Amino acid sequence: MSIEELDIAIVGGGLAGGTLAMALRKHAPDLSCALFEAGDVYGGNHRWSWFEHDLDEDGAALLEPFARTAWTGGNEVRFPGYSRRLESNYRSLDSRDFDAGIRRALPQEAIRTGARVVGLDGAGITLGTGERIAARAVVDCRDALPSEHLAGGWQVFLGQHLKTTAQHGIKRPVIMDATVNQPGAYRFVYLLPLGPDEIFVEDTYYADSPELDAEILRQRIADYAAGKDWQFEIVHEETGVLPVITDGDFEAYRASLSTPGVTLAGARGGFVHPLTSYTVPIAVRNALAIARAASDDIAALPEFVDSRAKQHWRDTAYYRLLGKMLFQAAEPAERYRVFERFYRLPEVLISRFYAARSTLPDKLRILTGKPPVSVSRAIRALLGKGAPLVQGKSP
Ligand SMILES: Cc1cc2nc3c(=O)[nH]c(=O)nc-3n(C[C@H](O)[C@H](O)[C@H](O)COP(=O)(O)OP(=O)(O)OC[C@H]3O[C@@H](n4cnc5c(N)ncnc54)[C@H](O)[C@@H]3O)c2cc1C
Repeated sequence: MSIEELDIAIVGGGLAGGTLAMALRKHAPDLSCALFEAGDVYGGNHRWSWFEHDLDEDGAALLEPFARTAWTGGNEVRFPGYSRRLESNYRSLDSRDFDAGIRRALPQEAIRTGARVVGLDGAGITLGTGERIAARAVVDCRDALPSEHLAGGWQVFLGQHLKTTAQHGIKRPVIMDATVNQPGAYRFVYLLPLGPDEIFVEDTYYADSPELDAEILRQRIADYAAGKDWQFEIVHEETGVLPVITDGDFEAYRASLSTPGVTLAGARGGFVHPLTSYTVPIAVRNALAIARAASDDIAALPEFVDSRAKQHWRDTAYYRLLGKMLFQAAEPAERYRVFERFYRLPEVLISRFYAARSTLPDKLRILTGKPPVSVSRAIRALLGKGAPLVQGKSP
């Protein structure tokens, strides 16, 4: 790289790092920046989805350069005792389109894939090759790590893009089909019709353990497809094991991952929806805020983002409480009742919940009425700490 000192080095080209690079390009074009990603592509192997109303105008504009799938006609949920069609339209972005969009938007010298960062500090980064790159600001957007400072459960899933031999007949995204059997976890199937004979089918679990047995999940998808009389071939597959945070010492968590002078952002920095583990609206809002703050005072970025992260943790306390009820107050096979009841509430409240923007009246409304879990277990859950989010993965 010919630039002697970058204004901003972004480490980690996933959703957070990639959207930040796009936001800087758009809102702070005078700042030089490069996006360092250990893998050969940006975004890994994911499909990210969100509801249209999760993003404000600026947020939607930030994702505009990416090829996305956009559905009209709302979405659906299905439970044993209740099904519902909702108005909100859904959006989805494949990481291959994310990679292509970033490569189109950023200048060539900013694209640094296959660049593993092995050292970072307030003055720059060091790559695995030994190359040292000076930067006025370093933003750490590497993967989130399991941590003994956080507690909760796991969202485990395997998704397959299927090509069916005949039309599959699914008209709109099905966010949760929980009419399936519930084998020791809250299980639902998530369906995204990608075309008349193409569909993304994901088998998802809110589970106590992060174990993912891919063979079992593949078989369950095959059984689900057989139940619908779909003959198919598999086009693509992805898996995920995401923490569902229900408690923790956030200051200790951030301190354990922070490097003096480095801005800690992304899911690693705590910018997640604690209950859904989704990050699209949060990553987009954060990218825009960081880009604007960088134009004002680049040296203040670490403190700026630290205080945003702590505010985000405070703002999302309610979702951690709901997560506790889900994991500790409900028997695994009964967890679906929590969502079944939730989905009977007004749609506007459900929308704000997914965007992590619930109002106080929303919060009270969710908790009023006959609880879907035993009250004594709920009280024990609220008083308990929950399991540390450390199983299965090593830091
Ligand atoms: C399969 C899957 C599906 C998902 N679906 C959704 C969804 O539908 N909606 C939603 O909102 N969320 C979804 N999520 C959650 C969401 O992906 C994550 O919350 C989001 O990707 C986090 O973004 P991030 O940029 O913080 O981290 P990541 O996307 O994990 O990116 C971190 C990046 O840092 C790179 N990296 C790590 N170490 C280094 C290093 N030393 N040097 C350089 N680079 C490094 C990694 O290779 C990686 O690309 C999904 C997650 C998975 C796994």
